Amino acid sequence: MELVWDGKALVGEGPAWDARDGTLLFVDIEGRTVYRLDPRTGAVDRWDVGDYVGAVVPRRAGGVVITLSDGFYHLDLATGRRHRLAAVEADRPENRFNDGKCDPQGRFWAGTLHLAERDPLGTLYCLEPDLTVRPVLSQVTISNGLGWSPDGSIMYFIDTAIRAVSAFDFDAETGAIRNRRPVIAIQEGGPDGMAVDQEGMVWVAHWGGSRISRFDPGTGRRLQAWHLPVSQVTSLTFGGKDWQDVYVTSARRGLGPDDLAREPAAGGLFHFRSDTPGLPTEPFAG
Ligand code: ZN
Repeated sequence: MELVWDGKALVGEGPAWDARDGTLLFVDIEGRTVYRLDPRTGAVDRWDVGDYVGAVVPRRAGGVVITLSDGFYHLDLATGRRHRLAAVEADRPENRFNDGKCDPQGRFWAGTLHLAERDPLGTLYCLEPDLTVRPVLSQVTISNGLGWSPDGSIMYFIDTAIRAVSAFDFDAETGAIRNRRPVIAIQEGGPDGMAVDQEGMVWVAHWGGSRISRFDPGTGRRLQAWHLPVSQVTSLTFGGKDWQDVYVTSARRGLGPDDLAREPAAGGLFHFRSDTPGLPTEPFAG
């Protein structure tokens, strides 16, 4: 486990590998910043976006798509300019976007939460390549996770408040989801971000649990765990040429001075190698 960026993010989140240039995109939600790490040099670029930024994904048409508190935005990494692609909950300033990810067809899925993170006032949305937005799941408390099985027939979703990974039958053609069921219960901390490997196993970041776990979603059993020197482990993604580089984000939020003295790397970005390759990051197709 290697600390590759000691940036002390408030809420590091949303890591996504950008295969176009071999870089790692991620965000600091409460630090209101988009980051890009070049693993070859260790150089990190940043874009201050001045608003809660929940997730970042590469965009096939160029640049990236991010979620801010009032919708989906295009961000031009060369100029730093951005414009809104679609308004979402623009009339609800007490809500913000949290985690998001693209499905194998390139639709961008991202969910919201109420800032108090107590009541199920959030919604999961899907941004279609034609830039229309549909709400797909209401009554979400802390929208997180997101991943698809290697054959694209199952979608995984995490509401951290429920402390479980849910699965849905996924219709690749229409993007419809149905038949929600819990497949993995989480004991240590709360489930936050997730990723899926090429064997179909589900990797989960434990918020407050200092680890990444690899589960078999067929049985709910844990197969492996990796410990981190920080408690607030937020999300992970696969990257690198062979999709065997694992990048893990973390947070400082919720930690007092004593905690931070014990875990000075909190908010950093970590890296380790996986024996099993992960599924590639899908760019937004629109
Ligand atoms: Zn998260």
